This record gives sequence, structure tokens and C-alpha cells, in this order.
Amino acid sequence: MDNSTIIPKKDPMGRAIADYFATGKAAKLRVLSSMFYEDEIPVDTLFRSYENMPRLEQCMLDISKGRVLDVGAGSGCHSVELQKRGHEVVAIDISELSVQVMKERGIDARLVNFFDGTFCEKFDTVLMAMNGIGIVGKVERLPQFFRCVKRLLAPDGQLLLDSSDLRYLFEEEDGSFVVDLAAGYYGEVDFEMRYKGVKGATFDWLYLDYNTLEYYANEAGLECSRIMDGEHYDYVACIKRKSC
Ligand code: SAH
Repeated sequence: MDNSTIIPKKDPMGRAIADYFATGKAAKLRVLSSMFYEDEIPVDTLFRSYENMPRLEQCMLDISKGRVLDVGAGSGCHSVELQKRGHEVVAIDISELSVQVMKERGIDARLVNFFDGTFCEKFDTVLMAMNGIGIVGKVERLPQFFRCVKRLLAPDGQLLLDSSDLRYLFEEEDGSFVVDLAAGYYGEVDFEMRYKGVKGATFDWLYLDYNTLEYYANEAGLECSRIMDGEHYDYVACIKRKSC
């Protein structure tokens, strides 16, 4: 169980979201990792509308049903669209600043960590968009993740998520795949963000290939299906309770 949250002075992404919401612009949101070159998240993309979302995200919104939980909702871009379509939506995030912005946008947003066992409402759809399953951090935490999923899913509920298989980073030109098995699962990444003078803590972020996802879902007694493939090793999966 983990009920930690992020306070404003340690929250680069939340600051960027709050600035953009208040003024329509933001400074550079920098992303650092020991595994990649420095990158940047264009802050306006965190406020993307349905038309500007990748196809995989549009697909997840289109097949969302009933009462929806938007996990790690950020600025609330998916929640806003789902509410427009008449869904009842609850958005959770560990960023105080992001939750404040979402409340101002008219979303029922709560400062809740997904792994907090005391949050146990039921949802017809649990949505984890933009590699939302990244919050699991390490493969070894997947069993705990699926226990939380089972607590939150209504009997006929579905978990929708998109993720990417990072194997392309390790593929040789002849198609062979070289990973250091002793180094742990190849989709486990560390990130750190910076915005203006605000530096966040380093955090673990998981990119998960479909087969590993399906294996752990099945171990947890859940059914997993691949709904859609993206253009670059990315996919949408749907996870449900087993139909008897
Ligand atoms: N889904 C949004 C935001 C993605 S960024 C979008 O697609 O634009 C990931 C978000 O997850 C951040 O806002 C971060 O604060 C939140 N987050 C990270 N760990 C979390 C956890 N354990 N529980 C809930 N939210 C979490």
C-alpha cells in the first residue's frame, strides 16, 4: 500500500500544467533519464483535445463505458472529453497542483494514489492513458497492481490501457534482440523532470510489452485482450474479470 502524493515545490509537471492552465503558456518541461538523451514534453500536448489525441487514445475513449476512473489524469484531458460524452468520471492523481487544475475544469478530481488500498469505489471503466501503467514502475509490482485493479473494477468492468514494447531500443539490424537479462526487465526506466526552478524526485516508470502484461493479468485471474496496435510497438489492451 502506498498513499504518497507530490507537494507543489517538488512537482515540475504539476507546475507546468498549472502555468499553462492559468496563462495559456508554459516554460520547457524537461525529462531526464539515465537511459535516454534529455527530452522535453510540450506542455500543450498535456491539454490535447480528442482531435489531437493519438489514435490509440481515441480508441480507448470510444470504447469507455459507464462510470470511468481516469488514473494519473494529469490536466484531465481525457476526463473532460468523457464528461462531454455523458460519462460519470472520477479522476485521480498524486499531484496536488494537477488535482487543483482539474477541479477548476469541473472534474470530480481526487488527490489519491492508485496504490492506496483505502480507495475502493467501483468503476465500469478504469482508464490508464499515455502509458498510465507506467506508475507500476517495476514488473515485480504487477501482482500488487492487479490486486488494486480487482478492487476497483465493477463485476462487468474493464481496464483500458496503452503501452509500448521498448524492444526496438535493443533490436539489432538483423532483427535479433539483445538484452542483459541480469539487468532486469528492459522496459523499466528511471525518469526525472525539471520545470523552471522545480526539480522532481527520480521515479521508476514501466513500459510493458503485451505478452508480459497478459501473463501477469492471467496470473491474477483476469482476461486480457489486445484491442488495437499502434504504428510503433504500441498497443491498447483491455483487461476484464474471467467470464465463467
Ligand atoms: N493521463 C494524463 C497524464 C499522464 S502523466 C495524460 O495522458 O495526459 C502521468 C500522471 O500520473 C501524472 O500526472 C502523475 O502525477 C500521475 N501519477 C503518477 N503516479 C501515480 C499514482 N501512483 N497514482 C495516481 N497518479 C499517479
